[in-house]
Amino acid sequence: MSKALFPGSFDPFTKGHEDIVLRALEIFDEIIIVIGCNPNKKPEIDPVNNLKAIRKVFANEPRVTVKLWAGLTAELAKEVGITNIVRGVRDVKDFEYERNLADINRQIAGLETVLLFARPEYACYSSSNVRELKRFKGDPTPFLPEGYKF
Ligand code: ADP
Repeated sequence: MSKALFPGSFDPFTKGHEDIVLRALEIFDEIIIVIGCNPNKKPEIDPVNNLKAIRKVFANEPRVTVKLWAGLTAELAKEVGITNIVRGVRDVKDFEYERNLADINRQIAGLETVLLFARPEYACYSSSNVRELKRFKGDPTPFLPEGYKF
């Protein structure tokens, strides 16, 4: 069984994130979505509510699990015996950032990162844009997976 972690803030979880998970399932047998809980970064969405909401999105997909994690992704990977991480790339800014992260994770824990390019129609979707939209009373639903609310 091949498994990979998909770590991120997911604050909120967008259709872009969902698409990465669905495409990663073509490569791996199981995907574990890891909601990072960084004590220095207060998320807009309560992590436990987010966990429940993301689980609902994948309620009919037993190959996807969702977890909260407050430490380094590399530590979790070691704990559960996983050597692959999946991440998404929308543009060159993401590319530089992801390359750095991938290098660090390879060096500290021997993790290999599989990068999937964002589908063009989702490349402009970001959690921060969706948060901003909601703050100004816009409707975020077109950017969110079906059934996911925040
Ligand atoms: P982080 O704070 O760890 O970057 P995010 O929740 O912002 O967490 O993103 C998690 C991963 O999903 C990152 O690899 C990011 O580049 C990717 N991602 C974010 N939005 C999209 C999108 N619209 N399409 C594809 N990948 C995306």
